[in-house]
Amino acid sequence: MRQRWQRRNDPPPAASSDMAEGGKKRLATVAVIGGGVAGLACARRLGALGLKATVFDTGKRGPGGRASSRTWRGQLCDHASQFVTATDKDFAELLASSGAVRPFGKDGRFGTLSKANFEPLQDGVERWIGLEGMGGIVRMLAEGLDIQQDVWVPPSNGLQCSRSDGRWGITVPGPGPQGREVKWFDAAVIAHNGKCAERLTSSTPAQEVHALLRTNFACSLPRNPRPGSGRFTLNQIYSLLLEVPSGLMPASFDAAFVEDEPILRWLSSNTAKLRQGGDGEVWTALSSAPFGKQHKAPQEFLEGTPKETEVVELMLSAVERAAGLARGSLLGKVRATKLQLWGAALPITRWASRDAVDFAWSAGHRIGIAGDWLSATPARASTIEAAWLSGVRLAEHVARAAEEDAGIQLGQDGGVFIPVDADFGTAAGEAVWVTEPADEPKGKGKGRGSGKGWKGKAAKSSR
Ligand SMILES: Cc1cc2nc3c(=O)[nH]c(=O)nc-3n(C[C@H](O)[C@H](O)[C@H](O)COP(=O)(O)OP(=O)(O)OC[C@H]3O[C@@H](n4cnc5c(N)ncnc54)[C@H](O)[C@@H]3O)c2cc1C
Repeated sequence: MRQRWQRRNDPPPAASSDMAEGGKKRLATVAVIGGGVAGLACARRLGALGLKATVFDTGKRGPGGRASSRTWRGQLCDHASQFVTATDKDFAELLASSGAVRPFGKDGRFGTLSKANFEPLQDGVERWIGLEGMGGIVRMLAEGLDIQQDVWVPPSNGLQCSRSDGRWGITVPGPGPQGREVKWFDAAVIAHNGKCAERLTSSTPAQEVHALLRTNFACSLPRNPRPGSGRFTLNQIYSLLLEVPSGLMPASFDAAFVEDEPILRWLSSNTAKLRQGGDGEVWTALSSAPFGKQHKAPQEFLEGTPKETEVVELMLSAVERAAGLARGSLLGKVRATKLQLWGAALPITRWASRDAVDFAWSAGHRIGIAGDWLSATPARASTIEAAWLSGVRLAEHVARAAEEDAGIQLGQDGGVFIPVDADFGTAAGEAVWVTEPADEPKGKGKGRGSGKGWKGKAAKSSR
């Protein structure tokens, strides 16, 4: 029976002779779809190993994805990632030698904020921030790469596989019919996630890759999932930028994890953190995942809607409570706000492959996956470091032994999705944003089960 992907018009025959060399397939060109940290790290390493990588990234202002910064009200703002941790030696060395970062959080101005009470965090974790925001780190990774920016590879027919030689075609804007053309590559890397990645691979022959990319959206995980039933799961987080007159917010801290406040998880001053001057202060507030889920709205059409007004007001009230400001004081004085929903924010499950690798690669179809959720090291999952490592390790595998599958098999005797049990940079795997209090299984009474998560790990809840 014909597969869905075989109904397509097959692309023109391959001209490439570099696919056959001494009877062995050799990959020369790789399309990397997604220019976040994972995609950039992958392309960079592929280039260093002698392969030609082209990155396709949908970001309008530049690459970086969830590790990007933006300029707003004349100031640089970290609107998603706030800092980076580096436990891998190579990543730590790269950061240290990059000139793009400085240590963060050891001056007593970073900590936890609970009901207006700020406590500096002294947990021994090494944290770094970008001198020019997180976007500065991304620019360092992107330097010299072939990046097709502001290019969205459409989920429908954006990725196709040649029946004649297995090469991958990427549909991009171009001089062809309907303003599009197809560019062909020996191999492909999916370096983004969520519904887009799921749909992009759904009609391709690489169903083993598609199986890993199937996505759930949730803010918590069932307490007792069936072993083997895990799926890739992402939460949703609102990011609110607010400009306030100088001196309105408390002067005791620059950045804090917010506790005991159901709506918020993070509050920081971009003005102080990134040592910027200006007439006012620009702060970032990040919501909790349950709040993101409860107020989920179409990201692209949020501006000017009643939902935007509602979410902004609720988040500003939460900032007032967390920072100990009088009720209504912020609402009346805030000069401007910018709200964004990170609809595919943080993975709350990670891919634990049987091979204990930080990526997935299908040798049969010459397509792989890199991203922050493919982490063999539990404490790194859902971080910039995990994304970087995943990209680098996939590139090394592709260059070294592209004929071997790695990390691709799901289910019995293969890999599994398991809960992310750490957060970026919090001590001892304490979950702050990633995991939220676990749900009781639907329809089952309280008290069922042992209270332990899958694989015997204690189900984590945020404090
Ligand atoms: C609110 C928030 C706060 C965070 N804070 C921290 C933190 O403080 N420290 C930390 O270490 N981590 C933090 N993280 C996690 C960190 O941002 C991610 O782990 C990391 O950036 C993931 O990188 P990635 O390359 O795997 O994915 P992404 O950054 O998501 O990159 C995917 C890229 O692919 C592009 N793309 C998507 N679809 C297509 C398509 N069809 N065609 C072309 N391009 C496409 C996207 O535009 C994006 O640029 C935070 C995340 C969020 C959401």
